Amino acid sequence: MSRGFDTKCIHLEETEGDVRNYGAISYPIYQTATYAHPGVGNSTGFDYSRLQNPTREQVEKVVATLENGIDALGFSTGMAAITMMMELFQPGDHLIVDSDLYGGSIRLFDHVSKKNGISFSHIDCYKEDVESYVNEHTRAIYIETPTNPMMNVTDIAALSEIAKRHELLLIVDNTFLSPYFQNPLELGADIVVHSGTKYLGGHNDTLAGFLVTNREDIRDRFRFLIKTTGAGLAPFDSWLILRGIKTLGIRMEKAQANAFEIVKWLQTQEAVTKVIYPGLPNHPGYEIMKRQARGFGAMITIQLESKEFALSILEKVRMIKYAESLGGVETLITYPTTQTHADVPKEVREKNGITESTLRISVGIEDVKDLVAELTDVFARTEEALHGRA
Ligand SMILES: *Cc1c(COP(=O)(O)O)cnc(C)c1O
Repeated sequence: MSRGFDTKCIHLEETEGDVRNYGAISYPIYQTATYAHPGVGNSTGFDYSRLQNPTREQVEKVVATLENGIDALGFSTGMAAITMMMELFQPGDHLIVDSDLYGGSIRLFDHVSKKNGISFSHIDCYKEDVESYVNEHTRAIYIETPTNPMMNVTDIAALSEIAKRHELLLIVDNTFLSPYFQNPLELGADIVVHSGTKYLGGHNDTLAGFLVTNREDIRDRFRFLIKTTGAGLAPFDSWLILRGIKTLGIRMEKAQANAFEIVKWLQTQEAVTKVIYPGLPNHPGYEIMKRQARGFGAMITIQLESKEFALSILEKVRMIKYAESLGGVETLITYPTTQTHADVPKEVREKNGITESTLRISVGIEDVKDLVAELTDVFARTEEALHGRA
């Protein structure tokens, strides 16, 4: 019988009964750059830590298991993972990418990959006819679902049929839901991307990235590229992610439960003109989410009545932090206009619905009554400052 998700987060079956490590319950940090050979032509399986390090190998095996992939590769950041992945493509290749993506991914595609001769169609994959953008040079489709920050939901299985019909790679950035709630490889994706900085690490204390695949040809190419380009995750950071993953399940459940409570509260606020959360039955992607994911996550995007209202919230929060990033135990509010999406051209931001009165909330695992109490206070003080009423 295959083990449950939470068990897999804590125990890697393969290394059970491994007595080399003195029975240490916590996997050791192998802080070494290189490895002695027991003899000429003999190897311990490790030569040099750019190629592989045991601690990194351990976290890669855990992430591969959680995403049901044949292999996962650990990188120093999510962007390092995506940057190396782009080495799969050649000058002249064309990619279809979602128009609403993490701002750093858009920046990479438009300001680095383009100069390398790769072209992009930025489209709304959740509602446009994706197939009509495929041409003879198209090699891949790159999406997030739900997207960052507008929470658009794309049907991964439907998109994978289009990808298969035209022999395109389907690449899904699964950062927002984590493998606890969604497994894109099971739905037909070829490559899954993670910013391990977010839910996998879970504590806002380290950066990491992962690529996961279930295709042997891609695995072989990725293994060649990681040893060649050299952005592999360091041993200590690998260990931090291993430790973070042990509590992934309970963190995701608690963060999601908190998110539902906060959504309920936000809906009672006059100053909030829109609450975008895929767990709301009126969200256009709700039915697809129910089919392809096991939960809705803990990311909420809101529109406020004005830019001034949004800025005032950012000024007034105390326990909740005005900060970039997401997926940690601490609740954070991000201002996409000047933070995550600052380098996305204003017209594109506006077309996607990101305005100066848009805020993104990453709900943490604090006591929800304390989060609601702080938001209540911050909103009341903002009402008073802007409108002279409490
Ligand atoms: C943060 C993030 C990234 C980039 O990851 P880093 O670890 O910050 O480099 C990529 N995709 C999504 C969806 C993210 O949220």
